[in-house]
Amino acid sequence: MSGMPLPQTPGLPNLVVAQCVLDKMAGAARAWQADETGEALVGLVEPGLHTNGVPGIYLLDTIAPDDSALRMAHTFQQGDPHQDELLWWLQENWHARRQRGDLPPKWDLPLRYLGDWHKQPGGMTRPSQGDLRTAKAWLRDSENGMDFLLAPIVTSQRQDPGSASNRIRVDGQTCVDFWYLQRQQRDFTGIPATVYQDGQLPGLGASPWHLRETQRLESEFDRLLETGLIPSPLVFLDLLDHSELDICFLLGRPGAEQLFLIATPPDYPAHPAEIRITAFMDLEDDNHLHERFLQRWRNAQPLVAPPEKSQVGGRNLASQIEELERNGDLRTAPVTVPQGAGPSPRAAT
Ligand SMILES: [Zn+2]
Repeated sequence: MSGMPLPQTPGLPNLVVAQCVLDKMAGAARAWQADETGEALVGLVEPGLHTNGVPGIYLLDTIAPDDSALRMAHTFQQGDPHQDELLWWLQENWHARRQRGDLPPKWDLPLRYLGDWHKQPGGMTRPSQGDLRTAKAWLRDSENGMDFLLAPIVTSQRQDPGSASNRIRVDGQTCVDFWYLQRQQRDFTGIPATVYQDGQLPGLGASPWHLRETQRLESEFDRLLETGLIPSPLVFLDLLDHSELDICFLLGRPGAEQLFLIATPPDYPAHPAEIRITAFMDLEDDNHLHERFLQRWRNAQPLVAPPEKSQVGGRNLASQIEELERNGDLRTAPVTVPQGAGPSPRAAT
C-alpha cells in the first residue's frame, strides 16, 4: 500500500494535529512495543464559516486508558471508567473556560471526543476490517451522537514505509496514518493532517490530581473514613484561582452540627486545599450537590489561611481537619465509622 496515491474524496475536512498529540502517540507506541495500544482523541470541530464551509478538525490531546485496558497483539479495547472520567473532566473544564470568556473566539467551540488512535503491528498502516466494523457500529449508535470518527493508525517500522498523503513520520521509527470515516461511507478514507506547534493551539492542561494520583485519592479517603469523616461524592467547581476547575466535596461526622467544605486545586497537594465550614445537611441526598456546595461555599468563610507550600506536601486532609477541630471550638461527635462506608468517593454516598 505504501506510496500509493489515495482516492481523492471531495468534502474531507481540514485536519490539524497538535505536535504534542504526535509526541504522545510516539511515546505510548514505544512504551508498548510488542502489543497494540491506543488512546482516545479530543479536540474541536470548527464548522468552516471562514473556509467556504469546509470544516476544520483540531486534535488537541490524547487520553490514555488506565492499566486495566487490554493490550495484546491484534486486540485493543479501551473505554475504561478512568478514561471516561478524564474526558468528562476535560470537557467540564473547557466549558468553564468558555463561560469565563478565557478563549479567543476562534476556539470558543465545544471540546469533543473525535475517535481513537491505535497501534498496529508491523506495516499494517490501514485500519483492519474489525476496526471498520467497530467504527461503523459506533457511528450507527445514535446515543453517541457522532457522524464521523478519526482512526489514526500508529506503526513502528524499522524500514521507511515511504510516503503517503495521509502519513506523518513522527520520528525515526514511528509513523501515523490518519483515517476518517463518515457515517454514510463504506470504508475509511485517508485524510491528510497538518501539524501545528503546541503554542498555535489551545492546551488542555495536566490531568487533575484525583485522576492522576488515584492512590493518593484512595489513601486520603481511607484516612478520612478512619477518622470518622464521611465524604460526599466529588463535584467540580471554579472556586480557587479561576484558571481550572477545583475538585470539591463535603465532609461530615455523623451527628455533628457542621460540615466541612473542601476545595482542592487540580495540582493538589502542590497547592493546598481550602477548607470552609457550614451547617450540617444531609449528605445522602446528592441531588443538586453541585448547586448546594456552591451556595454553601459562597456563604462560608475560609477556616484558616492556606499553610505554607512546604508544609502541605506530606500532610493529608484528615490530619488538617483534625488539627482544625483540636484548635477551634468546633464541636464534634464521637468518632464512629458507619457500616458499609467504602474507600472510594463514589461508594461513600
Ligand atoms: Zn486495528
